Amino acid sequence: MMNILDHTKPHQHFFEEMTRIPHGSFHEKEYSDYLVTFAKERGLRYVQDDMYNVIIYAPASQGYEDHEILLLQAHMDMVCEKNKDVEFDFEKEPLQLYIEDGWLKAKGTTLGADDGCGVAAMLAILDGDMPHPPLECVFTVQEEVGLCGALHLDGKYIHAKRVINLDGGGEVSTCTTSAGGANVISQRTFMREPISDPVYRLSVTGLSGGHSGGEIHREKGNANKLLARTLYAIAKKEAVSLIHVEGGMKDNAIPREAFASFSCKLDGAAIQEIVNQVEQEMKKELEFSDPNVKVSLTKGEGREALSVEDSLDYLRFMTLLPHGMHHHSMSIEGLTTASMNAAVVTCDENTIMVNCSVRGALESYIDTICEEIELLADAFGFTHVSSLSGMEL
Ligand SMILES: [Zn+2]
Repeated sequence: MMNILDHTKPHQHFFEEMTRIPHGSFHEKEYSDYLVTFAKERGLRYVQDDMYNVIIYAPASQGYEDHEILLLQAHMDMVCEKNKDVEFDFEKEPLQLYIEDGWLKAKGTTLGADDGCGVAAMLAILDGDMPHPPLECVFTVQEEVGLCGALHLDGKYIHAKRVINLDGGGEVSTCTTSAGGANVISQRTFMREPISDPVYRLSVTGLSGGHSGGEIHREKGNANKLLARTLYAIAKKEAVSLIHVEGGMKDNAIPREAFASFSCKLDGAAIQEIVNQVEQEMKKELEFSDPNVKVSLTKGEGREALSVEDSLDYLRFMTLLPHGMHHHSMSIEGLTTASMNAAVVTCDENTIMVNCSVRGALESYIDTICEEIELLADAFGFTHVSSLSGMEL
């Protein structure tokens, strides 16, 4: 087979070799076996697990024996996409490489540079004479379909405390940290009682939202918090009975919209005045980050509501919930190291649920924030469950 790449350069050699062996997600066995052969031929210790993850261990180069073990990681599976008009069998055929304007491409299909580049770089290091500490090279499967290989990998095969992950980023950026996360779901059950006061509907809209990992430091408005703030401002003047409340769609997104129905003795004009005042405050606070925030009051519907006490408990809980960035790095500018997103509020016939997404670069940050939420939940009669979550970036 004709070479497209320069095989005197090890990483190019190993990359092109890889494109000749099918390695889409769930179909990594053949490439996994290639890695095993690679290790055997070089007398390197290896493990191939039952999912076809492979770890190759390389002893330290001379003079590097007392260095700490380093783990290198890349995933062997690629995303298999092809143009509609192309006939191609990803389970059997080698990719058809070509170079155009200095860029390596594959004819009508994806190239698998993600994460073929990482895999090729690791093989080049294992095969070459670049000095290195003891290495644990981890090649995982099924990364693109949910990090399945990495999740399945048995920790007993790994001894390194330092990791360089060779995925994403590209040559011009380096990922030096990542965040773990947890969700705290607080739930409160209640009884409904008949109401006779006027019913209103309140909405907070116009916010720009964003990813709760990547955008949490940008001072964006959180619709759930702003809705609760408006309702609480009303409740300070006159008792409020909640009929319904909801906001946010996904736990990894800053909520853009939130809605509530409630009953209250005050007439529409009096409530509107409070709403206007709170909205003005918000517009000023969010002048540069979320200038289109809008709080609207309309007539609502409903015959039964939570008691005034239960409604107040919810509003106090939401008001005290710590939202947004909690900590940022003092050594890397612009890096958030702990945050919390009061992400999703749902309500049905007799329960209100609040899902908070917590992120932190340190486990202790995550634990502390979770504890804060749990204590608040306890204080206002909510039950809570916390679960560690794998965070997608
Ligand atoms: Zn990748």
